[in-house]
Amino acid sequence: MKSQYRGRFAPSPTGPLHFGSLVAAVGSYLDARTQGGEWLLRLEDVDTPRIVPGAAEQILATLAAFGFEWDGPVLWQSQRFEAYAEALARLQLAGLVYGCACSRKEIADSARRPAIDGGLAYPGTCRNGLSDGRLARAWRLRVDDRAISFIDRLQGRLAQQLESDVGDFVLRRADGLFAYQLAVAVDDDFQGISDIVRGADLLASTPRQIWLQRCLGFTEPRYAHLPVVSNAAGEKLSKQTRAPRLNISDAAPELVRALQFLGQPAPAELVRAKARDVWAWAIENWRFAAIPRVATIPWAILP
Ligand code: GLU
Repeated sequence: MKSQYRGRFAPSPTGPLHFGSLVAAVGSYLDARTQGGEWLLRLEDVDTPRIVPGAAEQILATLAAFGFEWDGPVLWQSQRFEAYAEALARLQLAGLVYGCACSRKEIADSARRPAIDGGLAYPGTCRNGLSDGRLARAWRLRVDDRAISFIDRLQGRLAQQLESDVGDFVLRRADGLFAYQLAVAVDDDFQGISDIVRGADLLASTPRQIWLQRCLGFTEPRYAHLPVVSNAAGEKLSKQTRAPRLNISDAAPELVRALQFLGQPAPAELVRAKARDVWAWAIENWRFAAIPRVATIPWAILP
């Protein structure tokens, strides 16, 4: 019987892949492949001002050099603006979206609580219409305060009350670009994703994505949020924390380290093997149950 499993890896081409991105790729790839599932690749290049020229091509070359084999064509979010516009129009028609005139400063001055993932929860200023002379800059989705809960395969049951924890959130930004939350929900549905395996840094976004799935009538995928790699200072590895890029000529040792990070006891001698041999070991020995059920793990990254 053909597996119903469809997973994906969705990097943003804002810089080269680093060890943290490799962990997410390895976790989602092995979860898919060991269940006979497909694994799709999507380049999340929707936030054009943050895109680094050449980074997308570099990501594709790195994944290929590491021995990842994706199914079907790569989906580029920059080619999907019509689909996002259509989803937004559908939400507008349903009365779920409103134009917001607030500037960052106005939100900073009027917000009453912090948002769950940093920043400020939007206080709903423009919810009941704009006062005279005010023009819509961004488009926001209405939320309410019923708990949105889901059971993460690794992190357990989680719940958020969007109205207090986030506020009505932006779907189309003042610069005209579509927000990550909308793009991700639309594309996960478009690609028929059954299982999202990604870093726990995206846990706080998940209830917003589930809310969008409900508003748009999409099926909710299963979620597994892997521990994220942090440096000695407790910061998530990222471009901002100057995470070293993956070494393309050193795929086997990097893969072995990623497996060990995910609780898989890859034998040390595999560091001298070929990437293909590491994958053979990993597919044979992968144990989802061995992945640490925590949101972050400090991990020494040797340059
Ligand atoms: N593009 C996002 C990132 O690189 C990942 C989005 C996702 O996996 O849902 O952080």
